[in-house]
Formats: sequence, structure tokens, C-alpha cells
Amino acid sequence: MAQPVRSFIEVPRDSHFPIQNLPFGVFQPRHGSPRIGVAIGNLVLDLSILEELGYLDVVTEGIVAGGARRQRIFMALGRPAWTRTRELIQHLLAAETATLRDNTQLRDRVFYQQSEVTMLLPARIGDYTDFYSSYHHAHNVGTMLRGPENALMPNWKWLPVAYHGRASSVVISGTDVKRPRGQTKTSEGSAPVFGPSRSLDFELEAAFFIGPGNELGRPVPIERAEDHIFGMVLMNDWSARDIQTWEYQPLGPFLAKNFCTSISPWVVTLEALEPFRKPLERQDPLPLSYLDRANDSTFDIHLEAGLRTDAMREPHVVTRTNFQNLYWSLAQQVAHHTIGGCNLQTGDLLASGTISGPTEESRGCMLELTWRGANPLKLPSDETRKWLEDGDTLTITGWCEGDNYRVGFGEVTGRVTAAT
Ligand code: CA
Repeated sequence: MAQPVRSFIEVPRDSHFPIQNLPFGVFQPRHGSPRIGVAIGNLVLDLSILEELGYLDVVTEGIVAGGARRQRIFMALGRPAWTRTRELIQHLLAAETATLRDNTQLRDRVFYQQSEVTMLLPARIGDYTDFYSSYHHAHNVGTMLRGPENALMPNWKWLPVAYHGRASSVVISGTDVKRPRGQTKTSEGSAPVFGPSRSLDFELEAAFFIGPGNELGRPVPIERAEDHIFGMVLMNDWSARDIQTWEYQPLGPFLAKNFCTSISPWVVTLEALEPFRKPLERQDPLPLSYLDRANDSTFDIHLEAGLRTDAMREPHVVTRTNFQNLYWSLAQQVAHHTIGGCNLQTGDLLASGTISGPTEESRGCMLELTWRGANPLKLPSDETRKWLEDGDTLTITGWCEGDNYRVGFGEVTGRVTAAT
């Protein structure tokens, strides 16, 4: 089927959701149960109705009729089924297809305004892993901790460093973020104190959902790694730096990062990202063979984070970066995660780590932007910020710039509320 370039649905020029995108999400209408939908312009297309009417021939047995659990079943089907479903939806939405275009009654049943539905998590997340794949982020943080000569740990360029995170506290965009309490200790104090974190941070990240998993003990070869990736979302890995400083040695972050992690609701497929694929920058040293894929690649995705305080009307962009700033590819992350035999499962979430670029303006968290609070951010409201304060809203957005269209992710946003 030829790729349609225009829908009968009006899509604003700067919309993240033209017919070239068609991301999947789980939504709940005001009156009705959760179900799977696709974003088009400012609308959501209800796949459960299309399935009921027999328009989605791949997806049988009510797979898209339900919510997050059903989405997991859809994710498990694998790329041929996703591609076929995408083609059918693209065809139904194309300007030249009359099925929905000329049937007002049916259109009223299958379309909702995005502003009138509640978005839910795109899948029930089984396990969540967070990588540390941006060279500039790792280098900046390492410089702060150990000085520029020892900024990178010896393993960093040999394997994609990661930790196992906490899936239960992954929340959907829009959820308030309660400032955590915990133990902190200053270098002067002889004992830790307990109280609300005083250095709450955001981390601009991207994450991907695992489609079909792999069996325990059967690593995913790097050449097949992308077959296991359903699609991508934006992520904010909220972090309490003072809690982290005291607790992280020797086993890594724990309570500093498990109180809340926010993701955007629409899962953008690799099919939609395909026109924006770019070669991965050459890695030096050459990775070991299980991490070495011929013509490995990344994606050209613009990423921004905006901060709005209670005194501001509009968010102020505090960082502009790009997904291409990641050293390790998605395929390398999957291959490495499974090489010891670990079984990834459908609905698992694997995140990139903070995506910082080479310039000061492209640093992906407050820790780097303010250099641990030494250079506070100056905001248009004449306020300054070393860290996030109660009432602050942090919004991350991202998109690929096409020829007169954008394939975007929407946003992931969250407002900081006081510790209680
Ligand atoms: Ca992180």
C-alpha cells in the first residue's frame, strides 16, 4: 500500500500527530471503559469500534477492545501485525478513502477530541530499566564527582551502563509529583538528617516499550534487537539529588529515583520514526562483537524541556537537545540487557538515561544545567532556580521535523507538589 500523505482529518502544520505518525495509546472516554486509540491531529481514533466493525483484520479476538492489558497483547504480536494494523488505519484515515470520511454517523462513534479523554499508561509495565547512554551526561556528572581526568568509569565505553528501576511508580504525563522525604547528609554534618529533598531534579529521557520478549537464557542477537521494540515515549526520571548522594554507593540509585517516573502517553512506532533514522556515530573503541551491528543507527529527534513556575504564564525552555546525542543505540541496549540470559517481557520499559548534548544549553537535567547549584538558572520571571521548587511544572516535548510535517511525541509534564 502506498503511504498516504494527507488525511481527511484536518491536521495543523505544527501538530505532532499527522497521518505519517499514528502513535498508539490507551485512553478512557468520559463515559466508557479504557480502550486503545490512535492520535490523529487533535483527535483520538477509537480502535475498539473499528475492530468490532471488522476493519482491522489482523487483530482478532477483541485484542484492541480493552485497555492497557489488551495493548500488551497487541504489543506481543510483533512487527508484521503492527505494520499491517498501521497500514489499515492509514488507509482508513487517508483523504481519498470514503469509509469514515463520508459516514458522519460512524465518524461520530470512532473519533474523540483529545481534550475530552483521559490518557492512561500505554501498557501495564512489568519491568523498568534505566540506561546511562549519553556520553555528555556521564562525562559531566563524572567530572563533578571525580574531576575531568576520571570523568568516565573504565567500563562506560565498553557496555551500556544501566540499573534496574521501579515499574510501580511509573506514571502518566499530568500526574503531580510529590516531593519525596528521605535521608540526606551534607559533607559537614556527622550524621544524616531526615526531611523533604531539597534538590529535586528532572531528567530528560526517551524510553521504549518491549513488544515480543525473549526466553530466559536466550539472548537477543543484536541484528534482531529492533524486532523486539514496539515504540518510543518521552520520559522524565524525577531525581532527588541529595538523597541520591547519600544512598547511591555501592549499589546505585534507590529511593532517589523510585518515587515517581513520568512518561508521555502516545507510543510512537519505529515505522513512524523510520524517515528520521540516522547512522550511529562511530564508536571508539569498537564494541565487542555482540554489541557490534553493521550500520547501526539512531533517530533525529529534537527534544526540549520547559520550566514554568507559579509566577510564569508560559514555560521557559531550559534545554534543547537531540536523541542523536546518545552514544549507545536501542539495539545495543536490547542486546546487552539480554546477553547474560535475562528475559525481556512484553510491556517492559527501557529508558535512555538523561540525554545531554555537548553544549551548556543542551544539558538534560538541573544537576548539569546549574552545575550542582553553582550557576542557578535565571528565568524570565526574574526568579532563579538551583533545583525544582514546589509549584514548578516541568514539561518535556520531542518531535522529528519532516518536509512540511512533524512526527512528534506530544509531551510529558508534571507539577511538583510539597512533601506531606
Ligand atoms: Ca535517569
